[in-house]
Order: sequence, then C-alpha cells, then structure tokens
Amino acid sequence: MGTVDGMSRSAIGDDGRMRVLVRGLLAACPTCGGRGLFHRPDRRGWLRIRPTCPGCGLAFERTHGHWIGAVAVNTVMSAAAILVALVVSFVATWPDSEVVEVLLPTVGTSLVAPLVLAPTSRTLWTALVVLVLPPEAPT
Ligand SMILES: [Zn+2]
Repeated sequence: MGTVDGMSRSAIGDDGRMRVLVRGLLAACPTCGGRGLFHRPDRRGWLRIRPTCPGCGLAFERTHGHWIGAVAVNTVMSAAAILVALVVSFVATWPDSEVVEVLLPTVGTSLVAPLVLAPTSRTLWTALVVLVLPPEAPT
C-alpha cells in the first residue's frame, strides 16, 4: 500500500483501485459497490443521486461544486459516444454514404448520450475523487 507523507494513503488498497473505477463505471457506489444510488421515487429518479450511499454512508458531494467534475466526465463520455456513432454510421453506409445517413445517428446520439450517461458520469467522477481523496477511515 502506498503512503503519502508517512500517512496511509487509504483503506482502499492499490489492488482495489481498479475495482473502485469499475464500480464507478457501473453506476455503483465506488467504496462498497452498493446499487440504487439514483432511485428516489419522490424526485426525478435516475437523474438524481442520493446525498449518501445507502450501503456504506459515503457522502457523494464532498465539497461545494463537486459535480462540475461529473459534467466534465459526462462531456468526455458523450463526445466518445458521438464519435463512435459517427464512425459506425459512416462505415456502415460506405462507400455510398449520404449526409443524412451519417448525420441522423450522430445527432441522435448527441441528444441521448448526455442523459443516458449522466448517472455513470456521476459515479465515475465520485470514484476518481475517492481514489484521490479517500474517505476517512472510521475511528
Ligand atoms: Zn457505498
């Protein structure tokens, strides 16, 4: 386990860093893998994350402005999805590609991807924050 300034880096071992990232990619809690983080029947459901993990109590918004990073992650993931849609639609219609045949899937992806990827971008961002600033170990 790595140390920084003589302090234990985290309760998350070096071998667990990949697990934390995979949990973030699967829209699960990065620390415990708990699910149901976006299930709030009284609100807009899957677009709203709970303030804390129901399984381990991890506070997701640890600083003011925490979710700005999730917006950046969402932007990068959406851009990647748009690029994939563009390339796939271009290759699928090759060699007689029409502008509309390439443009429609690409524009459709650009409208849908940010919403579909919103939960994953939040949990992935939280996972990245957990890796850099691990939660305090219980005392
Ligand atoms: Zn948890």
